Amino acid sequence: MELITILNRCHRFRGFVYQHAYFSADKKSIEVAVRPRKGSAAVCSRCHLPAPGYDQLAERRFEFIPLWGFLVFLLYTMRRVDCRRCGIVAVEEVPWGDGKRTLTKAYMLFLARWARRLSWKETAEAFRTSWDKVFDAVEHVVTFGLEHRVLGQIDAIGVDEIQYAKGHKYLTLVYQIDLDVTRLLWVGRERTIESFRGFFAVIGDELASKIVFVCSDMWEPYLKVIREKCSEALHILDRFHIVAKMNKALDEVRAGESRRIASEGGVPVLKKSRWLLLKREENLKTEQRFRIRDLLRYNLKTVRAYLLKEAFQQLWDYSSPAWAGKFLNDWCRQVMRSRIEPMKKIARSLREHRELILNYFRAQKLLSSGVVEGLNNKAKVTMRKSYGFRTFRCLELSLYHSLGKLPEPESTHEFF
Ligand SMILES: [Zn+2]
Repeated sequence: MELITILNRCHRFRGFVYQHAYFSADKKSIEVAVRPRKGSAAVCSRCHLPAPGYDQLAERRFEFIPLWGFLVFLLYTMRRVDCRRCGIVAVEEVPWGDGKRTLTKAYMLFLARWARRLSWKETAEAFRTSWDKVFDAVEHVVTFGLEHRVLGQIDAIGVDEIQYAKGHKYLTLVYQIDLDVTRLLWVGRERTIESFRGFFAVIGDELASKIVFVCSDMWEPYLKVIREKCSEALHILDRFHIVAKMNKALDEVRAGESRRIASEGGVPVLKKSRWLLLKREENLKTEQRFRIRDLLRYNLKTVRAYLLKEAFQQLWDYSSPAWAGKFLNDWCRQVMRSRIEPMKKIARSLREHRELILNYFRAQKLLSSGVVEGLNNKAKVTMRKSYGFRTFRCLELSLYHSLGKLPEPESTHEFF
């Protein structure tokens, strides 16, 4: 079987023929000459309609999917058309390329699929191509996906912030968290009122007004935009965000106290206790349990903060908003007497957002809880994979690519 036969089977285009295939001089790649079929007119790249020929440009090389360890290039001399409809001389449109890039569409889709499983760097290495080309491939596929995705009705959204670089650089991520669809809808720079409003500009007022649930953390700019854009929706402070905040406060207490003990030359009892304290007690291994029991004997602020944090977990066991509210009041009152400032700060903020927290219990049966946390974890894994290239554009593309569930461009063949 000849290579041309295979190409005609998997990558055939009306109006073009594969002429012949040969090895390059160094025998490392296969080059396939492509020419227009006789009598078929070139297509104007502006209006996508056939137009009379004008002249020819230099030959271009389009990178195709590698075969048996050989790089494969399609060689084609682009024509220019004199398009009367557009009133210009334009380069023709070729069905295997996107007009900008040197990779064929088939190869871009192939690389982009691998770039979802591997890091971009690993993908480039595995297929002997460059990181920039993998970037191009993902950009091509994501751009197509965003242009062709169907938003439809959105019942529930979750908004989340994620830190992506040192120096407080944040992204705002908006997820759809309907019971049957969970996907990333939007990525924005920063975590400001302006950035979150950008999401609502994309979906439009019509869809926004139909949103029934919104999950968020206690970040004030988000709360403000939600009040403004989704005033009808039930706004819920997500459990995951509250737990995360609590852990942060506890960590602050521990770090402060640990420093104080060290500066006073005391016994460093808090050394290496960080993960011990942040883990839920039921998730500790036996020896860790002994260590924590040992730690609890000391009269430390950290210990008291830890006990408060553990006691707070009971909140999530309630199903009635009224009982949950009563528990919350009691817990906050106790904390306000504790003289542990980071914990008091949490209690004040919980009091302030009491109704939004209780909405969690009002909506419990209707939302799959933990979904925002799951998506947040996936987003973090995606960001780790693109480590080293933390520009906004790269992160935006890789996040949409991994979590957006975007439609993919059609392919002439399933190149698995
Ligand atoms: Zn035209």
